[in-house]
Parts: sequence; C-alpha cells; structure tokens
Amino acid sequence: MHRTTALPISIAALLRACSTAACAMAAPTPHIPPPRELLRPLAVPYRLLLGPGPSNLSPRVRAAGSQQIVGHMHPEVLQVMEEIKAGIQYAFQTRNRITLAVSGTGHCAMEAALINLLESSDTVLVGNNGIWGERAADVARRLGAKVHELLKPPGEYFTLRDIQEGLAQHKPSVLFLTHGESSTGVRQPLEGLGELCHRHGCLLLVDAVASLGGVPILMDQQGIDVLYTGSQKVLSAPPGISPISFSERAREKMQRRKTRPPSFYLDMSCLASYWGCDGEPRMYHHTGPVSSIFCLREALAGLAELGLESSWKQHQAVCTRLCQGLQDLGLELFVKEEAARLPTVTTVRVPEGYNWKEITAFLMDKHSIEISGGLGPTAGKVLRIGLMGHNATQDNVDRLLQALRDALQHCQHSRL
Ligand code: PMP
Repeated sequence: MHRTTALPISIAALLRACSTAACAMAAPTPHIPPPRELLRPLAVPYRLLLGPGPSNLSPRVRAAGSQQIVGHMHPEVLQVMEEIKAGIQYAFQTRNRITLAVSGTGHCAMEAALINLLESSDTVLVGNNGIWGERAADVARRLGAKVHELLKPPGEYFTLRDIQEGLAQHKPSVLFLTHGESSTGVRQPLEGLGELCHRHGCLLLVDAVASLGGVPILMDQQGIDVLYTGSQKVLSAPPGISPISFSERAREKMQRRKTRPPSFYLDMSCLASYWGCDGEPRMYHHTGPVSSIFCLREALAGLAELGLESSWKQHQAVCTRLCQGLQDLGLELFVKEEAARLPTVTTVRVPEGYNWKEITAFLMDKHSIEISGGLGPTAGKVLRIGLMGHNATQDNVDRLLQALRDALQHCQHSRL
C-alpha cells in the first residue's frame, strides 16, 4: 500500500525554494513590454497604386496569399513550383531549363544574375541611361569585375550602333541593359542585340522588372541569355519573389567558373537544384516563401489566361490613352520619341512652377491614388505613372486624369 510520509520541514522548504529557482530559470522576466502598437489591429488602407510599382493585387492573387501554408517541400508545393516554372517559360518565351524564381525582390534577381555570371576576371559593359544601370554597375563593382559604362542621357535608349561600338571597344563578357527603364520611362529596343552580343563573345543580360508581361519580349528568339523580372509590377503579385532564367550559353559560362559565386543564398547551382531544374532529386537550400509561391502561381496563371498578346495590347492601349490625356491637360511627356515610351511606366515633366511633392501628396490625400516623383537622374524633374497588370485599365486612366486635373487646379498656390 502506498504510504505518504511527511518530509522534515527543512527539506520541504528546500524543495520549494528549488522549484521556484527552476521556474525562474525557465521563465526569465522580460524588461521590455509588448509594443502597444502591435496590440492594435493591423490597418491597411485602400489605395490605387499607379506609381512604378507595386501594383494592386488581383483578386485571385489576394485569395492565394490568404491560403493556409503547407511545408515548402511537400509534393503539392513542388507541383506549384513546376507550374511556376512553366508559367515563367511562357511569360519569358523561353525553353531554358534554368528557369525559376529567386526569393527576393527585383534587386535580388539583379544580384543573382551578376553574382553567378561574373568573376573578378570578367569585364562587364553596363548600359546606363537611368538608375538601373547605375545599380547594376554598383553590384558588378562590388564583385570585383571590370566595369565599363555605356552612357546615354535619361530619356534616351541605346542604338545597335552604340552597343556595337561599346562591345568592340571594351570586349565585355556580359552586357547589361534595362528593357523598361522605370526611372526615365524609356523602352530599350532589343531586336538584333542578342545576335550582336554573341558575335562579340558576350552574353546579353536584361532587366525586365518593369516591363515583363506588359511589353513584348521574347527571350529565346531575341537571344537574351539572362532575363529577370519582379512580381509586383505587371504580374500584380506581392513583392518578394522574382522570376529569372538562364540560357544554355549562360549555364555554360557559370559551369566554367574558376571561383564559387560569392553568395550561398543566390548560388544558381543550389537554386537550380532546389527548383528541380537539373533533373536531379531536389536538395533543400532555403525555406521557400510558400505564400509568395502561391501568389506568383496565380499571377502567372492570370497572365496565361489573358495571353501575352492581349496583355501587351492592353498595356499599349492604356498608355496611349494616358499620354493623350496628359497632353490634353497641357503636360509635357518626358520621352520625346513615341516609340521609345515605355507602355508600363509613363514619365511626364513636372509642370513649370509646381512642386511635384504637392501634386503627389494631393493625389494621395484627396483621391487615394499613388503616383511617384522621379528617381535617380529624373528626381525632381518628372512624375512617374505606372499602369501595370491588374491596374492597366481605361477606367484607371480616366480616374487618374480627373484627379490630376483637380491637383493642377488646387496646387496652383504653390506656383512660383
Ligand atoms: N529594375 C527595374 C527596371 C525596376 O523598375 C525596379 C523596381 N522599381 C528594380 C529593378 C528593382 O526592383 P525591386 O524594387 O523589386 O528590388
């Protein structure tokens, strides 16, 4: 029979003291209280995002983002990743095996491209006609590569002749160009460039963060070796996951590297394995952003349903309507040559005597519409208007023009 025996008082006290000490060790007292602001509900207002990105999410993308998650290597997620690869191949018009999405924004894809292509022995030629060339040159310099910049004033693009001369002079192994220069509103023609680069033993790397899906681009047919985009522009998905693709030529260059890429996180051989691009069993590399993967899948599905050609036509049509409306308001478009205007992001000069900040603030306060000021070389000079993906509608153009007319009337007090 079980008998309880009273412990001598001194031992009981000792045990109590020990358990209090154990408790204290298991649960130390925090000195910083929970932040009050986090004890209030999350507040996200509705805004119409007509700047150069991000764009508003489409309903199907929002629905995808609110799904419960499953493990990032569960078969259902791996299947979604396969669907994303097929969706990117369609959006990019490529059959490249190394086609995947990096876990990060457009800058992450830019770094992934340069980190994997370049070694310190490489020379890279960077087309700099806005902020994205500046950024790419910065990244390449940090990698220790020899960087030459091909310069054009903001608002202009590179001709085949400019590029031919640059290739002949600098003999680079990689040429970087921005297809949709969102800081200036310029569209870079790509016809003939791939072939030209290859004749000079150079790879063609193109940033299409602000253009892909809204402006024609045919990766394989145009001989582009590395192409990347973002999720938050024409794809109308949240920022943070970025499609990228490498041609066979680019893959061979990466295989010939003498040194390993200086980033583990962006090492393309690891990422290609994680994304199942190399025909080998997938290896864990990092925890894929499952919710972003679901959103990107739905964004690519939306583009596939609409069809690239319809999407291109729609972006061109809204841009044409916007440009006409801006000119009817007496505003001056920044890019003179009509064919060089980027259909996704339009730049318009800040009208004489107005403060651009007052215009953007008025649109935000009175109309809940975001547009942006200039960036880099266009800072203070232009307003930037993005009509991308889900937001590329005639209704949005009309709403914006109405709001701008209102802004131009009410911001008049700031005339110099
Ligand atoms: N390239 C271009 C052409 C862009 O428009 C942007 C974003 N505005 C980027 C690169 C960088 O993308 P992110 O801000 O998503 O890093």
